[in-house]
Amino acid sequence: MTVRTHVIPDVGAKTAVPALEPLLFELARPGRSGRHVVSDDAADIPAAFQRKTPLHLPELTEPQVVRHYTHLAQLNYSVDAGMYPLGSCTMKYNPKVNDRVASLFADLHPRQSYRTTQGVLALAYELEQMLAKITGMDFVSLQPQAGAQSEFTALLVFKAYHAKRGEAATRRRIIVPDSAHGTNPASAAMCGYQVTTVKSDARGNVDLDALKSALGPDVAGFMLTNPNTLGLFEERVREVCDAVHGAGALVYGDGANMNALLGIARPGDLGFDCVHINVHKTFSTPHGAGGPGAGPLCVKAHLRPFLPKPWIVREADGSYHYDTAREDRAPAGLGDSIGTIKQRIGNFGVLVRAYTYMKTLGEDGMLETGRDAILAANYLLALLRDKYDVAYDRTPMHEFVLSAAKQKRQGASALDIGKALLDEGFHSPTVYFPLIVAEAMMIEPTETEPRETLDAFAAAMKRIAERAESDPASVKAAPKYTPLARLDEVTAARKPVLRWQRPV
Ligand SMILES: *Cc1c(COP(=O)(O)O)cnc(C)c1O
Repeated sequence: MTVRTHVIPDVGAKTAVPALEPLLFELARPGRSGRHVVSDDAADIPAAFQRKTPLHLPELTEPQVVRHYTHLAQLNYSVDAGMYPLGSCTMKYNPKVNDRVASLFADLHPRQSYRTTQGVLALAYELEQMLAKITGMDFVSLQPQAGAQSEFTALLVFKAYHAKRGEAATRRRIIVPDSAHGTNPASAAMCGYQVTTVKSDARGNVDLDALKSALGPDVAGFMLTNPNTLGLFEERVREVCDAVHGAGALVYGDGANMNALLGIARPGDLGFDCVHINVHKTFSTPHGAGGPGAGPLCVKAHLRPFLPKPWIVREADGSYHYDTAREDRAPAGLGDSIGTIKQRIGNFGVLVRAYTYMKTLGEDGMLETGRDAILAANYLLALLRDKYDVAYDRTPMHEFVLSAAKQKRQGASALDIGKALLDEGFHSPTVYFPLIVAEAMMIEPTETEPRETLDAFAAAMKRIAERAESDPASVKAAPKYTPLARLDEVTAARKPVLRWQRPV
């Protein structure tokens, strides 16, 4: 195997990065086998396991197969390998105990009776209570399995709420700020709403006057992220919520990243009617490329009747069941509920990790988590501000947005800087989001990184800024030390090649 060595400044150690391996089909040799038990007697094999048509699998030894997959895993960057400063996507370390606990439930069947899954229902019910408490809401649905799906669920709930009041036909618009995550307007459009965008003011808040003039009797709701995607706390959040309520509309909280608020402020107290939390961001579970996730939706009492069914019900004797699925009773029916979004409890493994994370920290630990997330972001910003422009110069919460506009003029864009960071042993921050900042680089260190790692990351960012000044071509040529250099991301997304193809 060819191995390239690569210095990871973070730990000061040399790490072997395996070069791309030949693929299994290329390694195969006729007659090789990884089987330990060999029998030529078909009678030894139960009929159910006998294969009628041969499988065209590569012929390999067991160690070849194990090494192949291990090397593939080594080609990946992960939060277990190093810092992952993706703003808005909170990639924090997932304590291994979370995985251990989640694996206890690996054999669960999604349709298993409530009678044999009392512990599962108890855990889910308690998680609902904990999430309601930390968000200041009254009820929780664990069903949505991502942030985007929770937005969609909430907007269906808004629709049902307005329909119940006879206003379904008139309230057809959803307002979103221009700093919103792209899923917000997309979810609104998916629900059949028209989307109105309001601009941000010079301090990075929602422009209150623009919001007021956009509001009217045809508005169903307003979607607000707080802290917003600039990492800034909405300074007039109560006035914003009052204005929306004054127009008879509802306020949706995008709490995908709740890190900055944990134990410090509660969306329910700030005026939101509901909030979703990405537990795969705020409460650990690394995610990426579409999952795994869970986006519980937390609502005030007036929205409860519309939440997805079934609900988990706790009886006076401490037993649990699903209100629409008691085998010994007629189902309770849907009532005003929007129906089922995801079977039963939702993406349970991710929810178990969140439960374990919250339980191991406790209330004091979560408060400390929120504070440390804010401290780490402010510390890192202080180290970087003389080399990079700051998009909105206010005290950020758990993340902040830099602009590489200056470096772009020198010849190295935000994308180039992200690629150069890979050579320094770090994952790139989020780039080109939020859309309202030119050459945006959105950095969220999280509370899980020690100070030495933050220092090393800042040093790497500074080295790259200096290279952008003196030798921008070298930044444009990065990465040099990764197994693959720059990929054609557009073609990869539009025409993915997902299967091995024999080289021509
Ligand atoms: C990640 C994120 C979402 C979408 O969540 P998914 O789980 O990826 O669907 C929505 N809003 C904000 C602010 C986010 O950071």
